[in-house]
Order: sequence, then structure tokens, then C-alpha cells
Amino acid sequence: NFAERSEEQVSGAKVIAQALKTQDVEYIFGIVGIPVTEIAIAAQQLGIKYIGMRNEQAARSLPCCFWPRSHPCLGRYGKCKHELLVEACRLYTKFSARPSSIEAIPFVIEKAVRSSIYGRPGACYVDIPADFVNLQVNVNSIKYMERCMSPPISMAETSAVCTAASVIRNAKQPLLIIGKGAAYAHAEESIKKLVEQYKLPFLPTPMGKGVVPDNHPYCVGAARSRALQFADVIVLFGARLNWILHFGLPPRYQPDVKFIQVDICAEELGNNVKPAVTLLGNIHAVTKQLLEELDKTPWQYPPESKWWKTLREKMKSNEAASKELASKKSLPMNYYTVFYHVQEQLPRDCFVVSEGANTMDIGRTVLQNYLPRHRLDAGTFGTMGVGLGFAIAAAVVAKDRSPGQWIICVEGDSAFGFSGMEVETICRYNLPIILLVVNNNGIYQGFDTDTWKEMLKFQDATAVVPPMCLLPNSHYEQVMTAFGGKGYFVQTPEELQKSLRQSLADTTKPSLINIMIEPQATRKAQDFHWLTRSNM
Ligand code: ADP
Ligand code: MG
Repeated sequence: NFAERSEEQVSGAKVIAQALKTQDVEYIFGIVGIPVTEIAIAAQQLGIKYIGMRNEQAARSLPCCFWPRSHPCLGRYGKCKHELLVEACRLYTKFSARPSSIEAIPFVIEKAVRSSIYGRPGACYVDIPADFVNLQVNVNSIKYMERCMSPPISMAETSAVCTAASVIRNAKQPLLIIGKGAAYAHAEESIKKLVEQYKLPFLPTPMGKGVVPDNHPYCVGAARSRALQFADVIVLFGARLNWILHFGLPPRYQPDVKFIQVDICAEELGNNVKPAVTLLGNIHAVTKQLLEELDKTPWQYPPESKWWKTLREKMKSNEAASKELASKKSLPMNYYTVFYHVQEQLPRDCFVVSEGANTMDIGRTVLQNYLPRHRLDAGTFGTMGVGLGFAIAAAVVAKDRSPGQWIICVEGDSAFGFSGMEVETICRYNLPIILLVVNNNGIYQGFDTDTWKEMLKFQDATAVVPPMCLLPNSHYEQVMTAFGGKGYFVQTPEELQKSLRQSLADTTKPSLINIMIEPQATRKAQDFHWLTRSNM
């Protein structure tokens, strides 16, 4: 009866869990401590899956995560510090707030979820005071918000679409750059149509890989520098002109290259370069607009053009150069040899997660993606330590939605070290992950065992070991075996092939393959160096 019901109490933890459930949150990644434990338990009771992580950095790279920042601080620092943190987080998130009461929690959580998926996707921060978690309030005082609506789809201005179509038609050396925005927008169908119908060369960015498959005949990834350097019209589909794209500036680009910038975020338009045309909107919707406009007059970019010829020639010579490096029989192996052997066995539908300097850069050029949203890497800020977190998130979802699918996590030995203890998490949940640690005994480069011993003969390590060196010959695979997974230490192409074959065949366990490579191995010769002022 009413009198009884109105007495019913509910804890802050349960309100948080229910508010997340109402927003269709399916997974929570977290690190518990008092009082986050209660929230995780309440969430599990509602059918939300909880994945307990080991490293805050790895956990924070994930979709919905909790960590017990507030618990020890609360008593000691008091209220003021909390508000400071909310303010500090505002810089890095799309929304940062602290509910003023338990009653406000559903409202703030709905706004956080909505803000994270509307417009340019991004992180939001909700700061919940520790004492709310165990506080009891009357059930009837809580009103849950409805699930927020799916993000609205915006389209570009019609006149801008007309201008863009005419700039594309008049291009002598066109190029499409497919960024992660295109992947987020699920624009694979429309972009593939644009590429194929008009025979346009395209270049994916690291996480734009797979929107159109890497092995597509119009993919000019293997001639990346050349394509960027000589294109006269570039359509940017959801990619920022940041350091990864050399800021869109000479000498990596023509000084008068015309950019057509397609982005969902108005503030992004015009960053670093003044675009010829800006198309503000959802990439899938805008690409359909472009297709409609281009369809009005029969046209296609001539496949026999000089531009296509130049690109094809460069691709051929670049591919030959990496194949030659890959076929080197000398030991220890180089990066190219490793990645060619891995590529041979990669399942078509696997997720590839990667981090590390050379490991990520070279791996990206050899390891192919055939499906959109199947590559995750260190991203815009080159943050190391996120790879295992990404792999865990992908694996947790894959295990539920597409059993049998593998997550291949390609790590440099240094990158692996940042969140290496997440191997325990991988084994605890028995996730379908194969970790490849490409081990060169260091950061960028390292030393072999003999040089190492020689170096330490007369002096202490702290005095002589170069800052980039890590302990040579480290058996990272034992981190995996320590928790019950399979570990392999490999030094030859044959051992690599065999261990990868075994790992892929055994779907009951995660594996780690520790691949020893030449400590001084590096990329093949490049026309340009990264970020050097003299080259800009
Ligand atoms: P990449 O690393 O692939 O170059 P960036 O992170 O630099 O990607 O840029 C991605 C861009 O895509 C961002 O500017 C973002 O605003 C934009 N974006 C994200 N989602 C969409 C979408 N659905 N439609 C259009 N643009 C999007
Ligand atoms: Mg980018």
C-alpha cells in the first residue's frame, strides 16, 4: 500500500546503476575501491556487465568507466577540491558535472550519455561525491529520465554541396582522405560508392582503415606521402589536419591544394588550412548529398590519368621495398618480416589494436583492415598504455556479439609495459585476445644482450644505460603464462608462424607471443621526417 511504499529506501549506488541502465549502458569498466564497489554490484544486479580493470589509464580509455578517485580524498580534502576536479575535467571532456543531490543523478547521467554521442563523440565526466553512494533516499523521490534519443543527423548546405561537386569534377589530381569520423558515421556504403562510381583514389587514416577495405584497387595507402604531396583537391572525410596529416601544410602538400572539409564539428572547419569548401554535417548524409549532386552530370575521374599512373608506380616501388625487407632471412627479424608473417594469418574479420612507435607505424602499413571500425590505435595524442584497454573492450563485446572473432593486439615492448598487468584482466575474463609483443629491447630502439653486458661491465646501470633501453631478452610471454594463458617466445619466422597458428586454433585461451626482433631495426627510408621544423 501507499504508506508502505513511500517508506521504501534506495541507495545512491542503486540510483546510479538504474540511471545507467535506463540509458542502455551495457558494460561498465572500472577499478573498484570503497565506495565504487557498491555501484558495480548494483549494476551487475541490473544485468549490466562489469569488467574490473587493473590500471586507471587503461580503464579510462573505455566507454563507461568508474574509478574510486573520490574515496580517500573526500574526508581529507573536502568539497572544494571536488569542484576543482569538475572544472579541471571540463577542459578535456564534452560535459563535466557533479550532481547536487541523489535526485539529480539520473538527470546528469542522461545528459552525460547524450553529450558523449551527439555531434563529435567524446568523453564526459560525472563526479559523484562518495557519501552519495551509500546514502538512502526515498524511492519515490527519484525520477529516471527516458533513454536519450539517437543522435540527430545533420546535412550540409545545398550550395556548398554544389560547389564541392564542381571542385571535385575539375580536379586534376584528386584524393579522398577517409578518417575515423567516416567510420563513426557508418559511412562505408556511401563512401565506397563515391570511390567506385567516380574512380577516385583514397587514403585511410589509421582508424579510418577498413571503411573501404585496404586491399581495394583504389586505395593508395602504399603511396601515402606522394598522394598527399601532389594532390590538387583533397576531400577530408572526418579527419583533422593535425600532426598525423602534417597540418595540411607544404612541403607535405601543394601550397595551393584545395581542401573540401567534411566534418560534424563546425569549430574544426578551417583548422590550420583555409578550406575551399566546408561541408558541415554527418559524413554518411553529406556523402549521399555529394553523390546525388555528382550524379546529375555524367562524369568519372579518368582511370588512365597521369595521376593514377604516378600513384600506381609509387605504390609498386614502395610495396617492393617493404617486401624486400620482409623477405630478409637474417636474424633477429626486422619489423617487416614480422608483420608480413602476421598478415598472412590474420583472420579477415579480426580487430587489430596497436600501439608503440615503430610497431604501430610500420604495422599499420602491412596489416590490412577489411572492415570498418576494426582498428584501434594510440590515436591523436599518441597515448601509450591504451592498447590493452581497447583490446579488452573490443573482446568483451565481441565475445557477446560475434563469438569466435579474434582481437589481435600488436604492442611494442615499451607500449606493452604501460598496462601490462591488464593481462590478468584478459585471463580473468578469458577474452579472445592474442597479444603480439614486438620486442626490440627498448623504446624506439634498444641493445642486444652482448652490448648490454659489455656496457655494464664497469659501471652501474643508472650511469650508462641509455634512457631508451629496456632490459634485453625479457620474457614477456611469462606474464601471460603466469595467469594461465599461453605464452610463446619466438625468434624466427618459422616459430612466429607456428605460434600464431596455434594461438588462432586454440579458442579456449588468450595468448601472448613475444617476438624478438633486431634491437636496432627501424622503418624503411622515408622521404620526410616527422615534425622537424626544417622540413615544414
Ligand atoms: P583521424 O585520426 O582518422 O584523422 P581525427 O580524430 O583526426 O580522425 O578526426 C575525426 C574527425 O571526424 C573529427 O574532426 C570529428 O569531428 C569528425 N567526426 C566524428 N564523427 C563524425 C560524423 N558522424 N560525421 C562527420 N564527422 C565526424
Ligand atoms: Mg587525424
